[in-house]
Amino acid sequence: MRRLFRLLLVLALLVGAAALLWPSIQRAQRYAALLSAPVPTTRSLPHPLPGQRFADTWGAARGGGRQHEGVDIFAPRGTPILATTPGVVLNIGENRLGGRTVMILGPGGQRHYYAHLERYREDLKEGQWVEAGDVVGYVGDSGNAKGTPPHLHYGIYTARGAINPYPLLRQEEGGAGSG
Ligand SMILES: [Zn+2]
Repeated sequence: MRRLFRLLLVLALLVGAAALLWPSIQRAQRYAALLSAPVPTTRSLPHPLPGQRFADTWGAARGGGRQHEGVDIFAPRGTPILATTPGVVLNIGENRLGGRTVMILGPGGQRHYYAHLERYREDLKEGQWVEAGDVVGYVGDSGNAKGTPPHLHYGIYTARGAINPYPLLRQEEGGAGSG
């Protein structure tokens, strides 16, 4: 009887330990899958502000001899900004140019940058997993966009630097004859 009890106790501890470890094992697996996932191809990314058409302003001249390292998508202040990829929230924070920004580590290790936010999604935390289409924040004019029409600055960074997000984004959702 005592031996049975001890055996059951050991089994219970093993099950408990496995249950405790399981979420971190799953997290590590999901992270590894994210890093090895294929990077977005042409017109594969869902629009962060569905229905808001925008121009390719990649590489346009900006103040201080800088070039525009992304695209600007104009939308009414407070419009929810949707993540274009699944990923892990790397950073939530403010900087001089971008204002309130969110950086998400996405497929293939590319980083997706959302800037000039009015505010962040209230419960968004660094280290959190998001899915494509999840709200990350709301359109505003923070940072060096202060006083300009509210817009999202969206950038994609690879290990070799910024790339143009424009050709990767879908502008129309599923409309026949769109182009
Ligand atoms: Zn911009």
